[in-house]
Amino acid sequence: MLFAAYQPIAAIATTPRAILTLKPFCQASNAVLYIPQGRGLVSKPSKPSKPSSKPSKPPVSKPPISKPPENVQFYQGSLKEHLETIWHDYKAFVFVLATGAVTRLIAPLLSDKSTDAAILVVDEAGEFVISLCGGHQGGGDALTRLVAQTIQATPIITGASHSLNLPGIDILGLPFGWKKGSGDWTGVSAAIAKQYPVEVIQEAGSTLWQNALPRDHPFQFQTETSPQGRVWIGFTQRTFNPNADIPKVQWHPRVLWVGLGCERGTPKSLIDRGLKAVFQRNHLAEAAIAGIATIDIKADEVGILQLCKERDFPLRTFSAEALKSVAVPTPSPVVDREVGTPSVAEAACLLGCGGLEGTGLEGTGLVSKPPHLLVKKQVYKEEGVKGAVTIAVSLAETEFTGRGGKLFLVGTGPGALDQMTNAARSAVTEADVIIGYSLYLDLIAPLQRPGQIIESFPITRERDRAQRAIALAEWGLTVAVVSSGDCGIYGMAGLVMEELKQQDWDGKTPQVQVFPGITALQAAASRVGSPLMHDFCAISLSDLLTPWDVILKRLQAAALGDFVTALYNPRSRQRQEQIVQAQEIFLQHRQGNTPVALVKSAYRPDEEIQITTLEQMLQFPIDMLTTVIIGNCSTYQHQDWLITPRGYLGKL
Ligand code: SAH
Repeated sequence: MLFAAYQPIAAIATTPRAILTLKPFCQASNAVLYIPQGRGLVSKPSKPSKPSSKPSKPPVSKPPISKPPENVQFYQGSLKEHLETIWHDYKAFVFVLATGAVTRLIAPLLSDKSTDAAILVVDEAGEFVISLCGGHQGGGDALTRLVAQTIQATPIITGASHSLNLPGIDILGLPFGWKKGSGDWTGVSAAIAKQYPVEVIQEAGSTLWQNALPRDHPFQFQTETSPQGRVWIGFTQRTFNPNADIPKVQWHPRVLWVGLGCERGTPKSLIDRGLKAVFQRNHLAEAAIAGIATIDIKADEVGILQLCKERDFPLRTFSAEALKSVAVPTPSPVVDREVGTPSVAEAACLLGCGGLEGTGLEGTGLVSKPPHLLVKKQVYKEEGVKGAVTIAVSLAETEFTGRGGKLFLVGTGPGALDQMTNAARSAVTEADVIIGYSLYLDLIAPLQRPGQIIESFPITRERDRAQRAIALAEWGLTVAVVSSGDCGIYGMAGLVMEELKQQDWDGKTPQVQVFPGITALQAAASRVGSPLMHDFCAISLSDLLTPWDVILKRLQAAALGDFVTALYNPRSRQRQEQIVQAQEIFLQHRQGNTPVALVKSAYRPDEEIQITTLEQMLQFPIDMLTTVIIGNCSTYQHQDWLITPRGYLGKL
């Protein structure tokens, strides 16, 4: 799922060491690995395993997270010829070759940076990943970061916007599904690289990207000094004079819903020309079209279906009943008699926008205004051509992203970044938005990339965090929700999934992937030895969400069952008594000299470790940053270490 946006990917290696270097990447991404035939680099090409005669259905159909590198393919002849053959089959190429060699190989194949593949070069030792070509629109810079995370290398990204900590202006709107319009993209990029003031005039689309800018960004949202470039973000189609004094570009958020009505059998070509005529007359950008809306009896209208397929427009259809309820400027009694609603085009495009209901965006700040009609219905026909089409256009406040959203529920580990898994790091790097509690966001700040939207919430606002993450993912963004430790252990994963369930989640959309992390009990245990070697349990002493008598029952059971026990949330300023009662319960079942570890802020700069006993533990500071580990009846202390025997050296 992490590499989905860059697929299909080809990797190319020509030496055994290069193959080894790429192995973790090939496993994580399932990229096709091309190696030269007949050099004895691998013993045999591995074949995909044959399906067994009686295929048994897996109990849960989840896509595997990573696969072994079965995708090895051999090529014959020169790499140059091979590359020519496969050039158009892949969106990204990852080479383990000298940069010079790769440059010569790809030079004759490159054509346009808006369509060229991403080209990455990895050194044989796997120390560096270079984004060589297609860094912005090819997705190369982002893929470089991901590959570097996966093989633990340093990403080398040389684009100007990257060094200014800015998102590339030519990829700015991609997270929101905006379409790139015409303009002098090179000119505006150059102005930004020189840190000249560039004016931004945004009349539509999300402004979330503006919150993700560094303090010294070059953008002006109100004209102050004379700008050296201009970025329009809107649904208007602008024609730029090539001799203008400053370079200009335009992005088009997909905010326009086109309502269509047509005579049965109206050909696609006529609908298309009608659309063009209406958009031209009203100076609207076709790139800003979100989708098509019509009445349900037109759901099988061939011309409309062909148009939607060709232009990748979603088609939203509504019943006459629903359309009837919408107030429109030009109702028609004739249409009412024919199909049971006085308006198709106007009412459908207003409903197509989605309004607030059922979008999951209510109360999220993403939508506050109802849609409004931009173009009243216009009839388009041509002499001598069969059919007629009625077209109306409405403006939605929130753009249609056209993307399938993802929720990454990420455990960031106890503190230090090197205690976070590679997969979790990649998930954080890949996300469009990172949501979390400010302290944890600071810890992972070095993983952030330019243009990433960061939303920090106070510690108490967990539900808001979950709801916000879901709303953004349902809208189409990739959202990483981060928790310290493991996100599924007293973390955000459960809350997000509960909220999803409340919204009747189908288990698939938005996609969810959970990235485990080292939880506090493992982190704390690792600092004092091996106290968790035998059966253990975790109990949180926080009674904010769990009734105290339930916690008491679990404490008693753990103490009675001789489980090594890790106490989370042991004491806060308001909750002083719980740890005292926990100690009493354990003293009823274990010796006073049972070893206890108090580990505060494990793997953080202010880490403190105290080894004590059950009897004396309360004489030491214990707070909300501490994990308490109480040994079982056979745990013992040796020097500064706690050991719980597993039983290898004799009976317990
Ligand atoms: N999801 C987290 C737990 C959150 S509950 C995890 O899996 O680790 C918060 C509690 O975790 C704290 O009160 C403390 O008891 C424990 N904790 C979290 N980070 C810790 C750390 N670095 N060192 C010691 N205890 C920690």
